Amino acid sequence: MSGEKFFRDFNNFAGNTELKENVAAIIRRGEAAHAYIIEGGQGSGKTMFAHLFAAALICEGKGKRALPCGECTACLKVERGVHPDVISVDRGDRTTLGIDTIREVRADAFILPSEAERKIYIIEDAHLMTNDAQNAFLQVLEEPPSYAVFLLTCTEPLRLLPTVRSRAPSLRLRPLTADEMEEFLLSKAGDKARRLRDSDREAWEELIAASGGMPGVALTLLDGGLEERRRERNLAVKLLCGLISGSSDALVSINPGVGNISRREDAKQLVKDMADALRDMLAVKRCDAAPLCFFANRNTAQKAAMPYTVADIARAADALDELYLSLDRNAYVTGAFAAAGAKMRRGR
Ligand SMILES: [Zn+2]
Repeated sequence: MSGEKFFRDFNNFAGNTELKENVAAIIRRGEAAHAYIIEGGQGSGKTMFAHLFAAALICEGKGKRALPCGECTACLKVERGVHPDVISVDRGDRTTLGIDTIREVRADAFILPSEAERKIYIIEDAHLMTNDAQNAFLQVLEEPPSYAVFLLTCTEPLRLLPTVRSRAPSLRLRPLTADEMEEFLLSKAGDKARRLRDSDREAWEELIAASGGMPGVALTLLDGGLEERRRERNLAVKLLCGLISGSSDALVSINPGVGNISRREDAKQLVKDMADALRDMLAVKRCDAAPLCFFANRNTAQKAAMPYTVADIARAADALDELYLSLDRNAYVTGAFAAAGAKMRRGR
């Protein structure tokens, strides 16, 4: 989403009303810290939020109603990605953000800003900084130049060292509600969104559920990713039910999708989907009125939950937590799934 037009102001950023108001208020009072962790799932708009934050910090129209104003030279330059004092740092095609990159950032941070009063570094996927890189980063974080601000976008904050986390307040982007998502899609993807909503209500609701409240994900789904995502979600439910009931072909059932789970990140996504599905299954079992986070409607969730007791579902949720951690620890993927299945069935 970073490449698209994301301004004019915080009001244009979907949902997260309280967070946006707090950030704008902090900036107006001149009380911004030197570093923030901007947390949120993939597609939650972290990069966009970081750019709005950066623009607000150096906006020249601070007396105006909206912050950032979206109209001054500074705002327009941030929007076009050409402001010399707003610097994006990413890992390029590498899997981690290494110490060399962070050393460059550190050296650059001691050079005065060229146009604005601040110099802002947007460090993308900061959780992918190696430990060395994080330690190097700490040195500048402990005694930052007065004008420097570091905005760390991050999906897994626990991978940041506690010493980094303690110096950077966390701003958590929360998923959009179904209503906020509808509004977002209709304003952002106008005709395309309206056509789908009016011609195929079921697919529209499925898209909103499948986005998990992430605006970036919703736009990708609207752009033709819905079919593939449907396959992934169906696979998650099929595998989950197979594991709980111990059907011998549970793991075989994912064989056609081995391409899907052979990659660790895909396996983790699969486990996240399974965990979301379980949360919904538990909610409908308990007649909990909370909004669903995976199934498009309560009927489908009830149908999936029907064969299982609350205890079955709770045990499966524990097994999935462990499975996720073991994937993080580089366990053998298929073996880890099989072990999780055994745990789910224990005491059944
Ligand atoms: Zn401005």
